[in-house]
Amino acid sequence: MPERSDSESESRKLLRRLRDTLAEAGKGQERLDRITHIIADSMRTEVCSIYLFRDPETLELCATEGLKAEAVHKTRMRVGEGLVGRVAREQRSINTGNAPAEKGFRYMPETGEEIYSSFLGVPIQRLGERLGVLVVQSKIARQFSDDEVYALEVVAMVLAEMTELGAFVGDDPSMAALHQRPVMFRGSVGQEGVAAGHVWLHEPRVVITNLVADDPDVERDRLRQAVDQLRVSVDDMLTVAGSGDSEQMEVLEAYRMFANSRGWMRRMEEDIDRGLSAEAAVEKEQSAARARMETVPDPYLRERLQDLDDLSNRLLRILTGQGAETGASMPLDPILIARNIGPGELLAYGRKLKGIVLEEGSVGSHAAIVARALAIPLVIHAERITTEALNGDHVMVDGEQGIVHLRPEDSVASAFRDKMAMQAKALQRYVSIRKKPALTLDGQTVALHMNAGLMADLPSLESSGAEGVGLFRTELQFLIRSQVPRRAELAALYSKVLDSAGGKRVAFRTLDIGSDKVLPYMKREEEPNPALGWRAIRVGLDKSGVMRMQLQALIRAAGERPLTIMFPFVAEASEFFEARGHLDHVMKQERKLGRPVPDKVEVGAMLETPSLAFAQDSFFDAVDFISIGGNDLKQFFFAADRENERVRRRYDTLNISFLHFLETIVKRCDAAGTSLSFCGEDAGRPIEALCLAAIGFRMMSMRPASIGPVKHLLRKVDLTELRGVIDDAARSGRASARSSVIEYLSKGGWAL
Ligand code: PEP
Ligand code: MG
Repeated sequence: MPERSDSESESRKLLRRLRDTLAEAGKGQERLDRITHIIADSMRTEVCSIYLFRDPETLELCATEGLKAEAVHKTRMRVGEGLVGRVAREQRSINTGNAPAEKGFRYMPETGEEIYSSFLGVPIQRLGERLGVLVVQSKIARQFSDDEVYALEVVAMVLAEMTELGAFVGDDPSMAALHQRPVMFRGSVGQEGVAAGHVWLHEPRVVITNLVADDPDVERDRLRQAVDQLRVSVDDMLTVAGSGDSEQMEVLEAYRMFANSRGWMRRMEEDIDRGLSAEAAVEKEQSAARARMETVPDPYLRERLQDLDDLSNRLLRILTGQGAETGASMPLDPILIARNIGPGELLAYGRKLKGIVLEEGSVGSHAAIVARALAIPLVIHAERITTEALNGDHVMVDGEQGIVHLRPEDSVASAFRDKMAMQAKALQRYVSIRKKPALTLDGQTVALHMNAGLMADLPSLESSGAEGVGLFRTELQFLIRSQVPRRAELAALYSKVLDSAGGKRVAFRTLDIGSDKVLPYMKREEEPNPALGWRAIRVGLDKSGVMRMQLQALIRAAGERPLTIMFPFVAEASEFFEARGHLDHVMKQERKLGRPVPDKVEVGAMLETPSLAFAQDSFFDAVDFISIGGNDLKQFFFAADRENERVRRRYDTLNISFLHFLETIVKRCDAAGTSLSFCGEDAGRPIEALCLAAIGFRMMSMRPASIGPVKHLLRKVDLTELRGVIDDAARSGRASARSSVIEYLSKGGWAL
């Protein structure tokens, strides 16, 4: 194919000329001018123009060969406007022999472009970040060949990298250095709290400095070797994963498919033939895949493109030798920024993180569970933040609103600091009541306990003033490992938890997996509705070996100390009795083995499905205590998925029907003399907590950080009066008690 190799060597020559231009000293504008000249010359077109973004919505002509020089930095268009704007919006090339007849063509008299008939515009973009548009035009009415389109796309890729490296920085705002402007991201709340600090990228981007290569054979060899290495590592990962979790296997199979894909390899080799280095070729295809990702509506396909993106990153790291270790040192106040992160990796960072921002994730993801356990503010769904943020950038995370300010302007930063100062002041106020009881004005005392799940949580017992641990989520230990933890390991951990609690009550909840909490090593069938599926106690009873192992670990950890155990997600009394049967069996076994057993074991059930509220009296008599898992109970009461952003906030906890339902449970427990607590997230929300107390809850368990604010309010309120306010709201036919309660509290002058 002589014609083809001719065009390839032309292309290589062009790239070399671009590289030399980059190496020469000069201002950004001079470089751009020279580049448009070189491209027009090499492509034999009368016009070559470069448009860069002035702001996220506006493109500006920054350099041209062939159009009127006066138009430079004057001609602007909005994204979507004219052919150039369309290329920018759609992020794909437009190639036409008759530009004026093309849909959306816009005549710009200042440029003198009406005489040019053919138009080829390609996006300048890097890994999903739009940077500008590169255009060539000529008088003769002809379509550009595929080969020419391809060549210009390769050039655009090199321009994108040069832009990223700051080669075109100039005085004009459209030539401002990248990643320096303030950007605000609107995501969703993963964990409340506010934090300010500096960016720490979980996966720092690979920096490519050698874009253009002289010897394509050498580059092809480098690429092949790297791909071979990649294939081996993917096969290894598949072997390690065995036939475990189906989702993980699906990802790895997709990796393997891409790693062996001839099409992927062929495109990268063609890029190399055009003069790109192996790494630049990988990145060019990665950018193209990212651009496709934006337009693919099918979530399954999007995930596969995401897999290709991951694989490209791995390949780039092999080729450049850049691991996650870039030599950068972590700032003292790191805010972790990642596309997503596993619970184990997050735990490895631990409490040194001031905040976390993820592009993906969900409220119930493992990362969110760990962030919550560590009480680190978390914002999820902050789209594109990994593309925009650089290590060391100043960043402020508002976990209350789900907002992130990257490189904030002074006014935003100072307003944010005021907010943080106010919170710090409030915390001071809470310190003074830490050791005091949550005693209301009408003499009622509410016991405030904390939720925990990690050893690292235990110090909060002292600092928050919690009376005990009302919910210890034992699944975290299972989620962060790659295999089922051993009994001895668990026993050692539970024992340490009891030691640190220093005699305060710790309610260990047995393994609550399934639904959103999926163990990476546990084989599971796909379920149509996991939240209603095989989860929590259902798994425990069906896999009683694991349940008994955990119960044994708990008994051994306690020794002769008192022990509190609760079973999650009990939907009918018989499940509780069966689980307690396992506990009795294990206790008997331990005694037989001559091991010490706790002299007192309290056994409770979590009430998380409405059905249990209507269980037979004998259940309420038999159970030692009931703890309401409000997160689940609310989702089933309203049939609104707690993980689904569209519906999860739709129903108010202070809805009169829900409060009446909760009161039914209070009454049944009172009648049976069974102690009752509430341990869902709502217990940690001050207004919700007050209302729960008003309808009769005398024990609640919440995030440690919520204990201060909840106690502060409880100590200022008269529960009998508040109860009257709720009753009035119900009588007047309101759907929710919230507005009446807020009005009552504001009249009393209580700041919320
Ligand atoms: C709940 O459902 O309210 C609860 C405390 O359990 P989890 O959030 O762990 O499901
Ligand atoms: Mg639950």
